[in-house]
Amino acid sequence: MDADIGIIGLGTVGSMTLWQLARKGVSVMGFEQFGIGHDYSAAGGESRIFRTAYGEGSEYVPIMKESYRLWRELEKESGNELLHLTGGLMIGEPGTPFMDNVLKSIERFGLEHEILEGEQAEKRFPQHRLLPGEIMVLDKLAGGLRPELAVVSAVKQAEKLGAKVFSHSLVEGIESGRSGVKVFVNGKEYQFGKVVISTGPWTGVFMPDYKSQITIKRLAMGWFAAKDIKKFRADRFPVYIRESGEDKFYGTPTFDGSMVKAAFYINYGILEHPNDLSRTIMPEDLELLRNAVKQYLPDLYPDPVRASVYMDGFTPDEHALVGSIDDQDRIILLGGFSGHGFKMATAIGKIASDLVLEGKTTFELDHLSPKRFLKENAKQEGLT
Ligand SMILES: Cc1cc2nc3c(=O)[nH]c(=O)nc-3n(C[C@H](O)[C@H](O)[C@H](O)COP(=O)(O)OP(=O)(O)OC[C@H]3O[C@@H](n4cnc5c(N)ncnc54)[C@H](O)[C@@H]3O)c2cc1C
Repeated sequence: MDADIGIIGLGTVGSMTLWQLARKGVSVMGFEQFGIGHDYSAAGGESRIFRTAYGEGSEYVPIMKESYRLWRELEKESGNELLHLTGGLMIGEPGTPFMDNVLKSIERFGLEHEILEGEQAEKRFPQHRLLPGEIMVLDKLAGGLRPELAVVSAVKQAEKLGAKVFSHSLVEGIESGRSGVKVFVNGKEYQFGKVVISTGPWTGVFMPDYKSQITIKRLAMGWFAAKDIKKFRADRFPVYIRESGEDKFYGTPTFDGSMVKAAFYINYGILEHPNDLSRTIMPEDLELLRNAVKQYLPDLYPDPVRASVYMDGFTPDEHALVGSIDDQDRIILLGGFSGHGFKMATAIGKIASDLVLEGKTTFELDHLSPKRFLKENAKQEGLT
């Protein structure tokens, strides 16, 4: 046995799982095809939004609270500042599924918040131009994370605790047998008791059974200059997510004192293979974003100063796949985080470490079961 646990892919959730297992004193090895903290995949672009009142479902709130606790622990252990709390504005018309889930999260879990409407909202956050009937919900436990530094911090911390890390090491395949799982890397063979697969957009390439469940979406974001940058500093401009009719976008305050990030949820392209990702963005791709900035954030200049492109794996219901995928519980899959997985990565790492060591977790994970679509497919084919 080379180690008790092998981790394939040390991006967002793989790095956090490595750190959690190393903290528990477990012998663990991790493999990453690129360098640690690279930005060729899902984690990049200097910031990711953290929020607790969750528009994707109130069932996530306990995971967010645990993530928050663990982000603070990772900061303490690594000495790096990773999460800047700014509060988070959820903007839209009451009654949409997103806003309903935000309000339900607040109600179910007594989350600290403010609801702002009409003139009061525009006076407090004049950077946003509201449409008639829209409200702002200010989630107090929200802010911006540093994605590249977070991944590096977790991996370096894990190494200090004894984890072995192989960067620039593409895992070619695995083979599960009676005595454990073999992992094939660069012509070498490693043997582990169990493995965690956290290959992000490569999940369908690495595990072809899951290919049909994960669509690889190309996602772009832009950085904008402000007419008065002081208005967009973190103490005056919280991170936000906005759904105004068909327009869905999000952004952060300026973290470097010069530019303000904004991104739009539109189709920048579906990839057949993650290696096909083109990082060049055409000006026409940014037309919607330009128009949204003009309409909703009039104090920013609408032409992006900079834009960059990343990707993530999306499941059909946009909830991730987290759990064991084999009968012996030797292989844990963490994938398909559907554009909202960064904030929860610390808790997912903890959950993965519990699943791998104890076969169970105290968190409610039914909505993330990797088997849910396999069951669905079997039903459709009349197999069950
Ligand atoms: C533009 C954009 C904005 C986003 N904004 C937010 C946000 O504000 N808040 C939020 O919470 N989430 C956000 N997300 C989503 C979040 O970033 C992702 O859900 C999350 O990073 C996915 O993590 P992952 O570990 O699955 O994938 P990754 O971080 O991509 O990690 C997968 C890793 O596996 C490695 N790998 C793959 N195959 C192999 C192999 N065979 N051998 C070795 N290594 C391998 C890859 O190189 C990679 O490092 C955003 C995503 C994008 C793209």
